[in-house]
Amino acid sequence: MTQKAIPLPQLTGFSERNGCWYAEEVSLVDLAKEFGTPLYVYSKKALTQAYQAYDKACIGPGGKRRARVHYAMKANSNLAVIDCLKKLGAGFDLVSGGELSRALAIGADPKSLVFAGVGKSATEIAQALQVGVKCINVESIAELHQINRVATKLNCRAPISLRVNPDVDAQTHPYISTGLKGNKFGIAYHEVLKTYREAALLPQIDVVGIDCHIGSQITSTAPYLDALDKVLELVAQLKKEGIEIHHLDLGGGLGISYGDDSPPDITEFTNTLLDRVAERGFGHLDVVLEPGRSLVGNAGVLLTQVEYLKPGAEKNFCIVDAAMTELMRPALYEAYHAIVPVQTKAIPKTTYDIVGPVCESGDWLGRDRQMAVEEGDLLAIMSAGAYGFVMASNYNTRPKPAEIMVDGNKAFVIRAREKIQDLFSSETILPE
Ligand SMILES: *Cc1c(COP(=O)(O)O)cnc(C)c1O
Repeated sequence: MTQKAIPLPQLTGFSERNGCWYAEEVSLVDLAKEFGTPLYVYSKKALTQAYQAYDKACIGPGGKRRARVHYAMKANSNLAVIDCLKKLGAGFDLVSGGELSRALAIGADPKSLVFAGVGKSATEIAQALQVGVKCINVESIAELHQINRVATKLNCRAPISLRVNPDVDAQTHPYISTGLKGNKFGIAYHEVLKTYREAALLPQIDVVGIDCHIGSQITSTAPYLDALDKVLELVAQLKKEGIEIHHLDLGGGLGISYGDDSPPDITEFTNTLLDRVAERGFGHLDVVLEPGRSLVGNAGVLLTQVEYLKPGAEKNFCIVDAAMTELMRPALYEAYHAIVPVQTKAIPKTTYDIVGPVCESGDWLGRDRQMAVEEGDLLAIMSAGAYGFVMASNYNTRPKPAEIMVDGNKAFVIRAREKIQDLFSSETILPE
């Protein structure tokens, strides 16, 4: 059995005191008692600090704002989460009409919204144009023409950026790499200029920006700088041809620490990018940043209770009440999440695979973890604030868990636990 000594990630919203884990000032044991498990718990302080780390770098020398944060809400789109970020000053990056509706539900300014996604439907495009989003990021020539058609029908102008596929290797998991030639995302680098020329001729299209997003959980700055340089070359070329770009959207994708990875510090990373934009002579452009994971990933944990311990010849299993239905990242990407007992126990440690009750061998949450646990104990699955609840499913007719936001010594239910009858209340059986 492999025994990796992976450290815990650095956390601002969660801490261990006297052998017991807390979200800010609230004990995780108390939360589990009051609200049950599995349970998502977020720290307002952690997401606030992450936002402020970006915002600090967005204000350049002389106090001039040189970039804006548009939170990529697909990472965690709970209304309370996006409302907190809106109040801190964030705009949003959207990838569906559903996310657009969430943004409108919290009263976000349409001009703070950018709309991305490789397969926007005509209905979604119309919805975005009608509310007047800041920009639609276009991912293919076919989509560009679709946007022009929809705008013609609505008799309005469509502000667009082209999403450039810069063909750089973000050195991340293949499923979350998006800026390579072989990925479905963006417009191939060598076709971008031609596509801008085409866009400039379309009657309802306003070219306003340029966009690029190279992947997720990226832990080094180098691929960003490579992509940035390639995008800025295009901006310079377009200017020569009389096509003026007003904003530069650098996408999201900065990684977080799940334990053994060490991504750059948010403020340093952002300063490096924005300084490079200025050095290359493009400091007059507005810059859009679209972080998702790095704002919320380490602002959340998933609490779960141990149902059974099941020793075996090859493996010992610790069967918990959370599963791939609550947190799909391990099953989907073989992602690592630190897992800690919520209360430390003075009993011997055993090596376990932490698994859920779902009928799939892929339903595991952690492998080969040394842990001192007994049936009924609580575990906290760390770094679960991003791509956690939003990927939850009802497979095996499992209701989605509740979500709690902790602010200091207060805990708020920001989404109630689903009820089983709600899961099939919209289904009907055939008549006799
Ligand atoms: C997912 C996504 C992001 C955010 O990515 P993170 O890795 O969560 O920062 C930003 N922009 C676009 C277009 C995306 O699809």
